[in-house]
Amino acid sequence: MSFLWELAQDRRINDAGAKAANARSQASSAQEQTEQLEARLESLQLTTAAMWSLLRDRLGVSEAELIERMRQIDLLDGKADGKMSARVLECAACKRTMSTRFKRCVYCGSPIAGASPFPGV
Ligand SMILES: [Zn+2]
Repeated sequence: MSFLWELAQDRRINDAGAKAANARSQASSAQEQTEQLEARLESLQLTTAAMWSLLRDRLGVSEAELIERMRQIDLLDGKADGKMSARVLECAACKRTMSTRFKRCVYCGSPIAGASPFPGV
C-alpha cells in the first residue's frame, strides 16, 4: 500500500513539475511578446510625434484642432472610449463583411478598393 501511495505521489510531483515548466515557458513567451509590443508602441509614438510636429510647424495646425479631430475619429465607431476600432466593410466580389484593416478580402482574396493605410479613419 505504501509503495502505491509513493508511486502516486511521485506522479503528482512530476505532473506539478511539468505544469510549472509549462507555465514558465508561457510566461517567458508573454514577456517576449510584451517587449515586442512596447518596442512597436515606442516606434509609433516617435512617428506620431514627428508627424504632429510637422503639421504644427509647417501647416500651423493647433493643438485644439488635433484634439477635436481625435475626438471625431474616436466617435466614428459610436463610442467615445479613447480607442480607434476598425470599421467593417463589404467585399464587392463576395459580399462578405470584414475589417477595413485588410487590403484584400480574407475570404476570396479580392483587392479592397480604397483600403486605407489608417484603418478606421
Ligand atoms: Zn470577398
